[in-house]
Amino acid sequence: MSQTQTEDSLWPGLSGLDSRGPYLNASKCGHCGTVMLGQRTRCSRCWAGDKIEAVAVGRRGRVYSRTVIHAAPAGYVGPYTVGYVDLPEGIRVFAHLQAGPDTPAIGDEVQLDIVSLRTTDGQALTGPRYRRLG
Ligand SMILES: [Zn+2]
Repeated sequence: MSQTQTEDSLWPGLSGLDSRGPYLNASKCGHCGTVMLGQRTRCSRCWAGDKIEAVAVGRRGRVYSRTVIHAAPAGYVGPYTVGYVDLPEGIRVFAHLQAGPDTPAIGDEVQLDIVSLRTTDGQALTGPRYRRLG
C-alpha cells in the first residue's frame, strides 16, 4: 500500500491513492480481526496493541442512509448530500455522496472518489465522496 498525502486534504491522513484508486486508511487488529477507521495503535474491541496493521478500506460500499444539507456551512456549496456508507470491511462511515440527479439511493453500491469538498481562503480542500456504481 502506498500513501499519497496531499497538503490540501480536509482530513489529513484519512485517505490515500494507489494503482487501484483512492482508499481510506484503516487499522486491523491481528488478534480479533476488528477493522477501525484511521491509524490506530490499540484495538477498540480487544485492547491489544501489538498486532495492529495498516490496511486500505472503503474503495466501495453500500449506502445505509443519506440526507441533503440545504443550509451549507461556510466554504461549502449547497445543497449537498451526505450519508452513512457500509463498507465490506465492517465499518460504517459518514461521508459526502455525489449530489444531483445521480445521487446514490439507500441500498445503492457506491465507489470512492477524492474530490474538492470545501473552499477555505480560496484554497480547495479535498476529501472522500462516494458515487453510484454503474
Ligand atoms: Zn482486537
